[in-house]
Amino acid sequence: LRDRKLIVHVIPFENRRQILVTHDITESERIDMMRRDFIANASHELRTPLTVINGFLEIAAMQPDMEVSIRSSHVKLMIEQGERMQRLVEDMLTLSRLESTEFKVRAEHIDMHLMLRHICQEAQALSAGKHQISLDFDGPDIHGSSDEIRSAISNLVTNAVRYTPEHGEIKVIWKNTPQGPKCVVQDNGIGISQEHISRLTERFYRVDKSRSRETQGTGLGLAIVKHVLIRHDAQLLIESTVNVGSKFCVQFPQRAVVLPS
Ligand code: ADP
Repeated sequence: LRDRKLIVHVIPFENRRQILVTHDITESERIDMMRRDFIANASHELRTPLTVINGFLEIAAMQPDMEVSIRSSHVKLMIEQGERMQRLVEDMLTLSRLESTEFKVRAEHIDMHLMLRHICQEAQALSAGKHQISLDFDGPDIHGSSDEIRSAISNLVTNAVRYTPEHGEIKVIWKNTPQGPKCVVQDNGIGISQEHISRLTERFYRVDKSRSRETQGTGLGLAIVKHVLIRHDAQLLIESTVNVGSKFCVQFPQRAVVLPS
């Protein structure tokens, strides 16, 4: 009981005896702390772009005759900050939907080849030709929520692009294994040191905040991946070496496979 937090009530009983009632509040305290941390982090993340936008609006109000080129560069920066807030709010809403027990997985037949090809095409557009992105497809279709699985795999591939320097190589592999279908997203980018790996799926956890912001990250991508995978009984395995690259493997259960009719 050394690490537990208990509330003890002493209730008088007959013959000068007493009853001790204990409530273990360790878990509820932990959830409470996580909630407080989340609100503090989310508020901080939203406050930064808001401060920038308010600052520019104040300058615009004080200098009505501001040069057109300066004004338009301020407007451009405000639009970027507005878009950043929008991404954050959307990711927060996605996370809260995924966590809600009422929101059930709407399982459907997913055409994995089509989905992975689309994800790779989107990654090509994001990379603007600066990376070599390949798809090695040799696995079955699965049952699951198409929107959720797409967003999880797309998050992994987008991260691979964002954390891999120009001319890097990104491989997306879809195969079957004795345990079930597996998606591997592998890059030869900046990598992650061991002490960070177990914390990557925590909300707002980033190895390098400034790099994540530069590349438009919200810090919620892998938390979303984790929740989607929990909802599909799938597992995430991360292997990485600094300056060598990272490998994110998603292992689906065998029962996710769509059997040929
Ligand atoms: P972000 O929006 O910051 O990318 P994520 O939750 O998607 O948030 O990822 C959390 C952190 O994990 C990132 O900030 C980054 O430090 C690290 N990370 C994720 N994917 C990779 C990758 N492929 N290579 C190196 N680091 C990565």
